[in-house]
Amino acid sequence: MKEIILTGDRPTGRLHVGHYAGSLKERVALQDSGRFDEIYIMIADAQALTDNAEHPEKVRQNIIQVALDYLACGLDPERSTIFIQSMIPELTELTFYYMNLVTVSRVQRNPTVKAEIQQRNFEASIPVGFLCYPISQAADITAFRATAVPAGEDQEPMLEQCREIVRKFNEIYGETLVEPKIVLPSRQSCMRLPGIDGKAKMSKSLGNCIYLSDPPEEVKRKVMSMFTDPTHLRKEDPGHTEGNPVFIYLDAFSRPEHFAEFLSEYSGLDELKDHYQRGGLGDVTVKEFLNQVMQAELSPIRQRRAQWEQRLPEVYEILKEGTASARTVAASTLRDVRHAMQIDYF
Ligand code: ATP
Ligand code: MG
Repeated sequence: MKEIILTGDRPTGRLHVGHYAGSLKERVALQDSGRFDEIYIMIADAQALTDNAEHPEKVRQNIIQVALDYLACGLDPERSTIFIQSMIPELTELTFYYMNLVTVSRVQRNPTVKAEIQQRNFEASIPVGFLCYPISQAADITAFRATAVPAGEDQEPMLEQCREIVRKFNEIYGETLVEPKIVLPSRQSCMRLPGIDGKAKMSKSLGNCIYLSDPPEEVKRKVMSMFTDPTHLRKEDPGHTEGNPVFIYLDAFSRPEHFAEFLSEYSGLDELKDHYQRGGLGDVTVKEFLNQVMQAELSPIRQRRAQWEQRLPEVYEILKEGTASARTVAASTLRDVRHAMQIDYF
């Protein structure tokens, strides 16, 4: 069986270091590994509209921003097909058939959707499309016969829902769809990167992000303003590293070479953590180091982004070509689905 990747992002803003840690970095590594036969990267504008119906302009403008972030991170259009979700109506049709395989109580039970409803104050007025977006995500994944979905931990319930739909479809209509598995980041700290404000998740909708395209001064300002351990008031106080966003970011992004280059008094992260826990290590020192780590990680991304920004017509062409070729694949799956359901009348 072919190994195929499908993953993507909602164009509700530029991409941030949470996306990078949770999914983008892994995607680029998987792309470069050569282990996959096909790779599809979707800009999920239709999904973004499920909670942005009144802001189509925001979604429209962010499509190009997300595409630039992709190219800046090293996604290569020769090896990864980048496409725009709403331009593939076959995905909507698949969603419509899959909706009949899922109960209302099942969609209401999705913990990620539940948390997002609360976060958006949707309790009293949930758009139906928003509640059902995991079903549309199942359509996206299965349309490309994806076997692997590199994503952050918040996507686990979506993959579970998708597998349920696949199993139910295959059981009723015969073996047609492929069950995907999630590919989580290898470092625990990358599964769900917290915001700079200490909230559980860095998220475009929460305004607590370091964006991949932030200029160096902005990255520094954000790192220096980060929430840390509230009990670590003075430098001498013993501090907590667990649950402390600054240390979680160091877990996610620092490498031994960073210590050698920027903080050679310490052999590595464990020693730095020990010192913080013992007391005697100030937040400013740790944050300054984190800033250097982030700058080292982000600087090549920023440079590549600047180059692509000079070549926007080419970026549009990449999206156009990617969308056309992705559509052919989705159309072929839809034909199989209609055939299996015996609704391919003529
Ligand atoms: P929105 O607030 O509009 O939902 P978002 O910041 O949650 O935006 P998405 O486009 O929903 O971003 O997520 C895209 C991908 O990035 C998913 O695979 C998701 O798991 C991953 N991701 C998003 N935020 C984080 C995070 N803070 N840590 C790890 N992975 C993340
Ligand atoms: Mg999200």
